[in-house]
Amino acid sequence: MTESKYNPFENAQKQFDNMAEYLGLEDGMKNFLREPMKEIHFNIPIKMDNGSIKIFKAFRVKHNDARGPAKGGLRFHNEETIDDVKALSMWMTWKCALLNLPLGGSKGGIVCDPSALSLNEQEKLCRGFIRQLYSQIGPNSDVPAPDMGSNAQHMLWMLDEYETIAGGRYPGMITAKPVGMGGSLGRTEATGYGVIYTLEEMLKIKNIDITKTTASVQGFGLVGEYAARKYVEMGGKVIAVNCFHNADKKVYTFIDKDGLDIQKLASVKNSFGSIDKNKGIEFGYEVLEGDSKCTKWLEQQVDILIPCALPNQITLDTFPLIKDSVKIICEGANGPTTPDCDELIKNRGISMIPDFLCNAGGVTCSYFEQVQSNMNYFWDKEEVLIKLEYAMKTAFRAVYDLSLDKGLYMRDAAYVIAIQRVAEAVKLRGWV
Ligand code: GLU
Repeated sequence: MTESKYNPFENAQKQFDNMAEYLGLEDGMKNFLREPMKEIHFNIPIKMDNGSIKIFKAFRVKHNDARGPAKGGLRFHNEETIDDVKALSMWMTWKCALLNLPLGGSKGGIVCDPSALSLNEQEKLCRGFIRQLYSQIGPNSDVPAPDMGSNAQHMLWMLDEYETIAGGRYPGMITAKPVGMGGSLGRTEATGYGVIYTLEEMLKIKNIDITKTTASVQGFGLVGEYAARKYVEMGGKVIAVNCFHNADKKVYTFIDKDGLDIQKLASVKNSFGSIDKNKGIEFGYEVLEGDSKCTKWLEQQVDILIPCALPNQITLDTFPLIKDSVKIICEGANGPTTPDCDELIKNRGISMIPDFLCNAGGVTCSYFEQVQSNMNYFWDKEEVLIKLEYAMKTAFRAVYDLSLDKGLYMRDAAYVIAIQRVAEAVKLRGWV
Protein backbone atom coordinates (compact mmCIF):
# COMPACT_ATOMS: atom_id res chain seq x y z
CA MET A 1 0.00 0.00 0.00
CA THR A 2 3.04 2.21 0.49
CA GLU A 3 4.49 2.47 -2.98
CA SER A 4 5.69 6.01 -2.43
CA LYS A 5 8.80 7.29 -0.69
CA TYR A 6 6.67 7.86 2.38
CA ASN A 7 6.57 5.15 5.01
CA PRO A 8 3.47 5.53 7.24
CA PHE A 9 5.21 4.13 10.32
CA GLU A 10 8.06 6.61 9.93
CA ASN A 11 5.43 9.34 9.51
CA ALA A 12 3.61 8.21 12.66
CA GLN A 13 6.88 8.11 14.60
CA LYS A 14 7.93 11.52 13.30
CA GLN A 15 4.63 13.04 14.41
CA PHE A 16 4.97 11.37 17.81
CA ASP A 17 8.65 12.33 18.28
CA ASN A 18 7.93 16.00 17.63
CA MET A 19 5.17 16.10 20.20
CA ALA A 20 7.05 13.93 22.72
CA GLU A 21 9.79 16.53 22.58
CA TYR A 22 7.26 19.36 22.98
CA LEU A 23 5.85 17.58 26.03
CA GLY A 24 9.31 16.82 27.43
CA LEU A 25 8.54 13.07 27.75
CA GLU A 26 11.26 11.10 29.51
CA ASP A 27 13.36 8.89 27.25
CA GLY A 28 11.98 5.65 28.72
CA MET A 29 8.39 6.67 28.08
CA LYS A 30 9.22 8.05 24.66
CA ASN A 31 11.02 4.89 23.58
CA PHE A 32 8.16 2.73 24.84
CA LEU A 33 5.40 4.71 23.11
CA ARG A 34 7.13 5.10 19.74
CA GLU A 35 7.04 1.33 19.12
CA PRO A 36 4.22 -1.25 19.26
CA MET A 37 4.11 -3.49 22.33
CA LYS A 38 3.45 -6.62 20.28
CA GLU A 39 3.74 -7.52 16.62
CA ILE A 40 2.47 -10.84 15.26
CA HIS A 41 3.23 -12.12 11.73
CA PHE A 42 1.64 -15.29 10.43
CA ASN A 43 0.62 -17.12 7.27
CA ILE A 44 -2.86 -18.40 6.51
CA PRO A 45 -3.07 -21.35 4.11
CA ILE A 46 -6.29 -21.50 2.08
CA LYS A 47 -7.56 -24.23 -0.15
CA MET A 48 -8.82 -22.15 -3.07
CA ASP A 49 -11.96 -22.97 -5.06
CA ASN A 50 -9.83 -24.34 -7.92
CA GLY A 51 -8.13 -26.81 -5.56
CA SER A 52 -4.80 -24.96 -5.33
CA ILE A 53 -3.31 -23.88 -2.00
CA LYS A 54 -2.54 -20.23 -1.48
CA ILE A 55 -0.72 -18.74 1.49
CA PHE A 56 -1.82 -15.33 2.73
CA LYS A 57 0.40 -13.16 4.91
CA ALA A 58 -1.28 -11.64 7.94
CA PHE A 59 -0.40 -9.31 10.79
CA ARG A 60 -1.82 -8.12 14.09
CA VAL A 61 -0.07 -5.36 15.95
CA LYS A 62 -0.90 -4.10 19.42
CA HIS A 63 0.57 -0.67 19.91
CA ASN A 64 -0.54 0.01 23.48
CA ASP A 65 -3.24 -1.24 25.84
CA ALA A 66 -2.55 0.76 28.99
CA ARG A 67 -5.97 2.45 28.85
CA GLY A 68 -8.00 -0.69 28.16
CA PRO A 69 -8.40 -3.58 25.70
CA ALA A 70 -6.66 -2.84 22.42
CA LYS A 71 -8.98 -1.84 19.58
CA GLY A 72 -8.48 -1.58 15.86
CA GLY A 73 -9.55 -2.69 12.43
CA LEU A 74 -8.35 -5.25 9.93
CA ARG A 75 -7.21 -4.06 6.55
CA PHE A 76 -7.56 -6.43 3.58
CA HIS A 77 -5.37 -5.05 0.80
CA ASN A 78 -2.97 -6.64 -1.66
CA GLU A 79 -0.27 -4.04 -0.96
CA GLU A 80 -0.62 -4.18 2.82
CA THR A 81 2.69 -3.95 4.70
CA ILE A 82 3.70 -4.42 8.32
CA ASP A 83 4.71 -0.76 8.48
CA ASP A 84 1.21 0.31 7.47
CA VAL A 85 -0.24 -1.83 10.22
CA LYS A 86 2.26 -0.54 12.80
CA ALA A 87 1.43 3.07 11.93
CA LEU A 88 -2.29 2.40 12.00
CA SER A 89 -2.05 0.64 15.38
CA MET A 90 -0.24 3.66 16.81
CA TRP A 91 -2.86 6.04 15.44
CA MET A 92 -5.56 3.84 17.04
CA THR A 93 -3.94 4.36 20.45
CA TRP A 94 -4.04 8.13 20.01
CA LYS A 95 -7.55 8.05 18.52
CA CYS A 96 -9.06 6.09 21.41
CA ALA A 97 -7.26 8.22 23.98
CA LEU A 98 -8.34 11.47 22.31
CA LEU A 99 -11.98 10.38 22.37
CA ASN A 100 -11.43 9.32 25.98
CA LEU A 101 -12.50 5.74 25.23
CA PRO A 102 -11.25 3.19 27.77
CA LEU A 103 -9.40 1.36 24.99
CA GLY A 104 -5.89 0.95 23.61
CA GLY A 105 -4.74 0.76 20.01
CA SER A 106 -4.12 -2.14 17.64
CA LYS A 107 -4.49 -2.97 13.96
CA GLY A 108 -4.32 -5.97 11.70
CA GLY A 109 -4.09 -6.80 8.07
CA ILE A 110 -4.19 -9.60 5.56
CA VAL A 111 -2.29 -9.19 2.30
CA CYS A 112 -5.07 -10.03 -0.15
CA ASP A 113 -7.37 -8.52 -2.74
CA PRO A 114 -10.83 -9.42 -1.42
CA SER A 115 -12.44 -8.47 -4.74
CA ALA A 116 -10.46 -11.31 -6.38
CA LEU A 117 -11.65 -13.92 -3.85
CA SER A 118 -14.92 -15.85 -3.86
CA LEU A 119 -17.15 -15.58 -0.78
CA ASN A 120 -16.11 -19.10 0.14
CA GLU A 121 -12.43 -18.14 0.00
CA GLN A 122 -13.07 -14.94 1.98
CA GLU A 123 -14.84 -16.95 4.68
CA LYS A 124 -11.93 -19.41 4.91
CA LEU A 125 -9.49 -16.51 5.19
CA CYS A 126 -11.48 -14.92 8.04
CA ARG A 127 -11.76 -18.20 9.91
CA GLY A 128 -8.07 -18.97 9.31
CA PHE A 129 -7.14 -15.56 10.69
CA ILE A 130 -9.01 -16.24 13.94
CA ARG A 131 -7.75 -19.81 14.30
CA GLN A 132 -4.19 -18.54 14.47
CA LEU A 133 -4.87 -15.43 16.52
CA TYR A 134 -7.42 -16.87 18.94
CA SER A 135 -5.30 -16.69 22.09
CA GLN A 136 -4.26 -13.09 21.41
CA ILE A 137 -7.68 -11.50 20.93
CA GLY A 138 -10.94 -11.32 22.86
CA PRO A 139 -13.44 -8.89 24.39
CA ASN A 140 -11.05 -8.07 27.24
CA SER A 141 -7.75 -8.10 25.38
CA ASP A 142 -7.89 -7.03 21.72
CA VAL A 143 -11.05 -6.29 19.75
CA PRO A 144 -10.90 -6.23 15.93
CA ALA A 145 -13.22 -4.34 13.55
CA PRO A 146 -13.30 -3.69 9.80
CA ASP A 147 -11.03 -1.33 7.95
CA MET A 148 -10.32 -0.88 4.27
CA GLY A 149 -11.36 -4.02 2.33
CA SER A 150 -13.12 -5.80 5.18
CA ASN A 151 -16.80 -5.67 6.12
CA ALA A 152 -19.55 -6.72 8.53
CA GLN A 153 -19.87 -10.22 7.03
CA HIS A 154 -16.13 -10.79 7.56
CA MET A 155 -16.55 -9.72 11.20
CA LEU A 156 -19.39 -12.18 11.70
CA TRP A 157 -17.41 -15.10 10.26
CA MET A 158 -14.57 -14.17 12.59
CA LEU A 159 -16.91 -13.98 15.57
CA ASP A 160 -18.42 -17.34 14.68
CA GLU A 161 -14.98 -18.95 14.46
CA TYR A 162 -13.94 -17.39 17.77
CA GLU A 163 -17.12 -18.55 19.51
CA THR A 164 -16.80 -22.04 18.06
CA ILE A 165 -13.32 -22.36 19.54
CA ALA A 166 -14.32 -20.69 22.83
CA GLY A 167 -17.50 -22.72 23.21
CA GLY A 168 -19.69 -19.77 24.15
CA ARG A 169 -21.11 -16.49 22.94
CA TYR A 170 -18.77 -13.47 23.12
CA PRO A 171 -20.40 -10.78 20.96
CA GLY A 172 -18.06 -8.10 22.37
CA MET A 173 -15.08 -9.85 20.81
CA ILE A 174 -15.37 -7.93 17.53
CA THR A 175 -17.28 -4.85 16.31
CA ALA A 176 -19.09 -3.52 13.26
CA LYS A 177 -20.99 -6.78 12.97
CA PRO A 178 -24.24 -6.90 11.00
CA VAL A 179 -27.18 -5.26 12.77
CA GLY A 180 -29.29 -7.99 14.37
CA MET A 181 -26.19 -10.16 14.87
CA GLY A 182 -24.61 -8.03 17.58
CA GLY A 183 -23.96 -4.98 15.43
CA SER A 184 -24.86 -1.48 16.57
CA LEU A 185 -27.28 0.69 14.71
CA GLY A 186 -25.41 3.71 13.36
CA ARG A 187 -22.05 1.90 12.99
CA THR A 188 -22.28 1.94 9.19
CA GLU A 189 -22.69 5.70 9.14
CA ALA A 190 -20.51 6.46 12.17
CA THR A 191 -17.11 7.30 10.65
CA GLY A 192 -18.52 9.41 7.83
CA TYR A 193 -21.01 11.21 10.06
CA GLY A 194 -18.23 11.80 12.61
CA VAL A 195 -16.17 13.55 9.94
CA ILE A 196 -19.02 15.97 9.34
CA TYR A 197 -19.75 16.51 13.06
CA THR A 198 -16.19 17.82 13.41
CA LEU A 199 -16.50 19.84 10.20
CA GLU A 200 -19.67 21.45 11.55
CA GLU A 201 -17.76 22.64 14.61
CA MET A 202 -14.92 23.99 12.50
CA LEU A 203 -17.34 25.88 10.26
CA LYS A 204 -19.06 27.36 13.31
CA ILE A 205 -15.71 28.63 14.61
CA LYS A 206 -14.79 30.08 11.23
CA ASN A 207 -18.26 31.59 10.91
CA ILE A 208 -18.89 29.85 7.58
CA ASP A 209 -22.39 28.83 6.51
CA ILE A 210 -22.26 25.19 5.42
CA THR A 211 -24.92 25.79 2.77
CA LYS A 212 -22.52 28.17 1.00
CA THR A 213 -19.68 25.64 0.87
CA THR A 214 -18.45 23.07 -1.64
CA ALA A 215 -16.38 19.96 -1.07
CA SER A 216 -14.39 17.33 -2.91
CA VAL A 217 -14.29 13.80 -1.50
CA GLN A 218 -11.61 11.19 -2.18
CA GLY A 219 -12.88 7.63 -1.75
CA PHE A 220 -16.42 6.32 -1.78
CA GLY A 221 -16.25 3.47 0.72
CA LEU A 222 -18.36 3.74 3.85
CA VAL A 223 -16.41 6.76 5.15
CA GLY A 224 -16.54 8.81 1.95
CA GLU A 225 -20.13 7.90 1.19
CA TYR A 226 -21.56 8.74 4.60
CA ALA A 227 -19.45 11.87 5.00
CA ALA A 228 -20.79 13.04 1.62
CA ARG A 229 -24.36 12.09 2.52
CA LYS A 230 -24.27 13.95 5.85
CA TYR A 231 -22.58 17.00 4.35
CA VAL A 232 -25.19 17.22 1.58
CA GLU A 233 -28.01 16.64 4.10
CA MET A 234 -26.71 19.68 5.97
CA GLY A 235 -26.80 21.80 2.81
CA GLY A 236 -23.26 21.49 1.45
CA LYS A 237 -22.49 20.75 -2.19
CA VAL A 238 -20.16 17.86 -3.07
CA ILE A 239 -18.83 18.73 -6.50
CA ALA A 240 -16.30 15.91 -6.89
CA VAL A 241 -16.07 12.31 -5.74
CA ASN A 242 -13.18 10.13 -6.69
CA CYS A 243 -12.95 6.39 -6.27
CA PHE A 244 -10.89 3.41 -7.29
CA HIS A 245 -12.58 0.87 -9.53
CA ASN A 246 -11.70 -2.61 -8.34
CA ALA A 247 -12.25 -4.32 -11.71
CA ASP A 248 -10.93 -1.61 -14.07
CA LYS A 249 -7.97 -0.86 -11.71
CA LYS A 250 -8.49 2.81 -12.50
CA VAL A 251 -9.49 5.85 -10.51
CA TYR A 252 -12.53 7.76 -11.71
CA THR A 253 -13.40 11.28 -10.59
CA PHE A 254 -17.05 12.22 -10.96
CA ILE A 255 -17.65 15.96 -11.18
CA ASP A 256 -20.70 18.19 -11.20
CA LYS A 257 -20.21 21.86 -10.36
CA ASP A 258 -23.90 22.07 -9.35
CA GLY A 259 -23.43 19.26 -6.84
CA LEU A 260 -23.43 15.49 -7.25
CA ASP A 261 -26.45 13.45 -6.25
CA ILE A 262 -24.77 11.32 -3.58
CA GLN A 263 -27.72 8.99 -3.05
CA LYS A 264 -27.82 8.26 -6.77
CA LEU A 265 -24.06 7.57 -6.84
CA ALA A 266 -24.36 5.37 -3.76
CA SER A 267 -27.18 3.40 -5.34
CA VAL A 268 -24.86 2.22 -8.14
CA LYS A 269 -21.68 1.52 -6.20
CA ASN A 270 -20.58 -2.06 -5.70
CA SER A 271 -19.55 -3.65 -2.40
CA PHE A 272 -15.97 -2.41 -2.91
CA GLY A 273 -17.03 1.24 -3.17
CA SER A 274 -16.47 1.29 -6.93
CA ILE A 275 -18.71 3.14 -9.36
CA ASP A 276 -18.96 2.24 -13.01
CA LYS A 277 -17.63 5.01 -15.26
CA ASN A 278 -20.64 4.68 -17.60
CA LYS A 279 -23.07 5.23 -14.74
CA GLY A 280 -21.42 8.59 -14.09
CA ILE A 281 -21.72 9.50 -17.76
CA GLU A 282 -25.36 8.35 -17.74
CA PHE A 283 -26.03 10.67 -14.77
CA GLY A 284 -24.60 13.57 -16.79
CA TYR A 285 -21.43 13.98 -14.76
CA GLU A 286 -17.99 14.81 -16.06
CA VAL A 287 -15.86 11.70 -15.53
CA LEU A 288 -12.08 11.95 -15.38
CA GLU A 289 -9.91 8.87 -15.54
CA GLY A 290 -6.57 8.26 -13.85
CA ASP A 291 -4.30 5.73 -12.21
CA SER A 292 -3.97 5.12 -8.47
CA LYS A 293 -1.98 8.36 -8.10
CA CYS A 294 -4.81 10.43 -9.59
CA THR A 295 -4.97 13.85 -7.93
CA LYS A 296 -8.02 15.28 -9.70
CA TRP A 297 -10.00 15.29 -6.45
CA LEU A 298 -7.59 17.72 -4.81
CA GLU A 299 -7.30 20.02 -7.80
CA GLN A 300 -10.91 21.16 -7.46
CA GLN A 301 -11.99 24.75 -6.74
CA VAL A 302 -13.71 23.93 -3.44
CA ASP A 303 -13.81 25.12 0.17
CA ILE A 304 -13.29 21.72 1.76
CA LEU A 305 -11.19 18.68 0.91
CA ILE A 306 -12.26 15.38 2.46
CA PRO A 307 -9.70 12.61 1.80
CA CYS A 308 -11.34 9.30 2.76
CA ALA A 309 -9.10 6.77 1.04
CA LEU A 310 -5.40 6.00 1.25
CA PRO A 311 -2.45 7.38 3.23
CA ASN A 312 0.10 9.79 1.69
CA GLN A 313 -2.23 11.67 -0.65
CA ILE A 314 -1.38 15.24 0.33
CA THR A 315 2.38 15.33 -0.12
CA LEU A 316 5.06 17.88 -1.06
CA ASP A 317 4.40 16.93 -4.69
CA THR A 318 0.61 17.20 -4.61
CA PHE A 319 0.20 20.12 -2.21
CA PRO A 320 0.86 22.79 -4.90
CA LEU A 321 -2.15 21.43 -6.82
CA ILE A 322 -4.51 22.47 -4.02
CA LYS A 323 -6.44 25.61 -4.98
CA ASP A 324 -6.35 28.78 -2.86
CA SER A 325 -10.11 28.38 -2.34
CA VAL A 326 -9.53 25.46 0.07
CA LYS A 327 -10.12 26.53 3.67
CA ILE A 328 -10.50 23.23 5.51
CA ILE A 329 -9.09 19.72 5.19
CA CYS A 330 -11.05 16.97 6.96
CA GLU A 331 -8.91 13.83 7.19
CA GLY A 332 -11.47 11.05 6.92
CA ALA A 333 -8.67 8.61 6.01
CA ASN A 334 -5.82 7.56 8.26
CA GLY A 335 -2.59 9.39 7.42
CA PRO A 336 -3.63 11.12 4.18
CA THR A 337 -1.19 13.99 4.77
CA THR A 338 2.57 13.52 5.05
CA PRO A 339 4.28 15.29 7.98
CA ASP A 340 6.41 17.45 5.67
CA CYS A 341 3.19 19.00 4.34
CA ASP A 342 1.81 20.16 7.67
CA GLU A 343 4.03 23.23 7.64
CA LEU A 344 2.75 24.21 4.16
CA ILE A 345 -0.86 23.72 5.25
CA LYS A 346 -0.25 25.89 8.31
CA ASN A 347 1.43 28.61 6.23
CA ARG A 348 -1.45 28.71 3.77
CA GLY A 349 -3.85 29.18 6.69
CA ILE A 350 -5.84 26.04 5.86
CA SER A 351 -7.65 24.63 8.90
CA MET A 352 -6.79 20.98 9.48
CA ILE A 353 -9.08 18.49 11.22
CA PRO A 354 -6.52 15.73 11.84
CA ASP A 355 -7.25 12.08 11.11
CA PHE A 356 -7.32 10.61 14.57
CA LEU A 357 -9.89 13.23 15.58
CA CYS A 358 -11.79 13.52 12.30
CA ASN A 359 -12.32 9.80 11.62
CA ALA A 360 -12.71 8.70 15.24
CA GLY A 361 -16.48 8.25 14.81
CA GLY A 362 -15.97 4.65 13.70
CA VAL A 363 -14.12 3.43 16.73
CA THR A 364 -16.31 5.51 19.02
CA CYS A 365 -19.37 3.73 17.69
CA SER A 366 -17.45 0.44 17.88
CA TYR A 367 -16.97 1.16 21.57
CA PHE A 368 -20.73 1.73 21.89
CA GLU A 369 -21.27 -1.56 20.06
CA GLN A 370 -18.92 -3.37 22.42
CA VAL A 371 -20.78 -1.98 25.42
CA GLN A 372 -24.13 -3.02 23.92
CA SER A 373 -22.78 -6.44 22.92
CA ASN A 374 -21.32 -7.12 26.34
CA MET A 375 -24.67 -6.16 27.93
CA ASN A 376 -26.62 -7.95 25.20
CA TYR A 377 -28.93 -4.94 25.23
CA PHE A 378 -29.11 -2.69 22.19
CA TRP A 379 -29.90 1.01 21.83
CA ASP A 380 -31.97 2.64 19.11
CA LYS A 381 -30.21 4.51 16.33
CA GLU A 382 -31.09 7.95 17.65
CA GLU A 383 -29.47 7.19 21.01
CA VAL A 384 -26.30 5.95 19.29
CA LEU A 385 -26.02 8.97 17.01
CA ILE A 386 -26.70 11.49 19.80
CA LYS A 387 -23.93 9.92 21.89
CA LEU A 388 -21.64 9.85 18.85
CA GLU A 389 -22.21 13.50 17.98
CA TYR A 390 -21.61 14.51 21.57
CA ALA A 391 -18.36 12.51 21.78
CA MET A 392 -17.02 13.89 18.49
CA LYS A 393 -17.88 17.49 19.23
CA THR A 394 -16.49 17.28 22.78
CA ALA A 395 -13.20 15.93 21.45
CA PHE A 396 -13.12 18.56 18.72
CA ARG A 397 -13.65 21.35 21.27
CA ALA A 398 -10.89 20.03 23.53
CA VAL A 399 -8.44 19.97 20.62
CA TYR A 400 -9.52 23.36 19.29
CA ASP A 401 -9.40 25.03 22.72
CA LEU A 402 -5.91 23.69 23.37
CA SER A 403 -4.73 24.74 19.93
CA LEU A 404 -6.02 28.25 20.62
CA ASP A 405 -4.64 28.39 24.13
CA LYS A 406 -1.13 27.18 23.23
CA GLY A 407 -1.00 28.45 19.65
CA LEU A 408 -0.72 24.88 18.35
CA TYR A 409 -1.61 23.36 14.99
CA MET A 410 -4.73 21.19 15.41
CA ARG A 411 -2.82 17.94 14.78
CA ASP A 412 -0.26 18.88 17.41
CA ALA A 413 -2.94 19.79 19.94
CA ALA A 414 -4.65 16.43 19.36
CA TYR A 415 -1.33 14.66 19.94
CA VAL A 416 -0.73 16.57 23.17
CA ILE A 417 -4.05 15.43 24.63
CA ALA A 418 -3.73 11.83 23.45
CA ILE A 419 -0.08 11.29 24.39
CA GLN A 420 -0.60 12.79 27.83
CA ARG A 421 -3.52 10.45 28.53
CA VAL A 422 -1.66 7.34 27.38
CA ALA A 423 1.57 8.31 29.17
CA GLU A 424 -0.39 8.87 32.37
CA ALA A 425 -2.00 5.40 32.13
CA VAL A 426 1.39 3.79 31.46
CA LYS A 427 2.86 5.60 34.47
CA LEU A 428 -0.04 4.74 36.77
CA ARG A 429 0.33 1.08 35.85
CA GLY A 430 3.99 1.34 36.74
CA TRP A 431 5.16 0.10 33.33
CA VAL A 432 7.69 2.85 32.77
N1 GLU B 1 -10.86 0.86 11.25
C1 GLU B 1 -11.49 1.97 11.88
C2 GLU B 1 -10.47 3.03 12.29
O1 GLU B 1 -9.42 3.14 11.70
C3 GLU B 1 -12.40 1.54 13.01
C4 GLU B 1 -11.74 0.78 14.11
C5 GLU B 1 -12.73 0.19 15.09
O2 GLU B 1 -13.91 0.37 14.94
O3 GLU B 1 -12.24 -0.47 16.02
O4 GLU B 1 -10.72 3.83 13.14
